[in-house]
Amino acid sequence: MPRIDPWAPQSEASFSFLGGLSDFLAPPERGRPISHVFRGAPSVKDAVEALGVPHVEVDAILVNGASVGFEHPLRDGDQVCVYPFDVPPESGSVLHLLAPLLAAPTFVADVHLRRLARTLRLLGFDTRHGAELTDADIVGIARDEVRVVLTRDRQLLKHRALAHGYWVRSTDPETQAREVVRRFGLVEHARPFTRCCACNDLLRSVEKSAVRDRIPPRAALWIDGYWECLRCQRLYWWGTHSARLQAVVESALGSSQC
Ligand SMILES: [Zn+2]
Repeated sequence: MPRIDPWAPQSEASFSFLGGLSDFLAPPERGRPISHVFRGAPSVKDAVEALGVPHVEVDAILVNGASVGFEHPLRDGDQVCVYPFDVPPESGSVLHLLAPLLAAPTFVADVHLRRLARTLRLLGFDTRHGAELTDADIVGIARDEVRVVLTRDRQLLKHRALAHGYWVRSTDPETQAREVVRRFGLVEHARPFTRCCACNDLLRSVEKSAVRDRIPPRAALWIDGYWECLRCQRLYWWGTHSARLQAVVESALGSSQC
């Protein structure tokens, strides 16, 4: 961040945050322009983040009607409109600030989002998560493996090394899954029951005869289909618990289509 001259004259700009970006503002500040007072010529990115909105949620910025990059210097009297991924500016030529993602993106979830991580794995999405991951680990993994950071920590999403991230709005795990499915358009890319919910690796079908000594006797009587995790060797089968898991999958995918 550039050094600010405390003796520089005070300037003022007006900011409007569109769509879901208003979720980052205090309720009285939503739906109307916000005045931002500053000194010097900070980048528009620094000003947006100072107002509480992480850069990874911003796809376009218009300053006085012109589309600009994050490093554009803010000037006294500027009118700034900030757009999320799903509210495109009406301006003709727009510089998109979000880097492209794979159709089926991969994720790294923070320590508090264990149930969300397990649901994304249940849907088939590669999702790293672990109680041992620090914020620095998460940033490093996101950068090195081009993963989307999922977190409820807004400060984490402001880390300059991050290109992709999403602030999970809800505290309810079921709603969180629907949020992420909607944000990243995951419905058509879901491959439920193909990934280990415990360790994130892929499952492979195995012959019943090869794992018979690991199957509870009651399951062995009436179940023929088994899948094993390639990494942790955890065994899965379609049993009495599966209806509950199917309901989790349908909740995450179904409600996202409305
Ligand atoms: Zn596993």
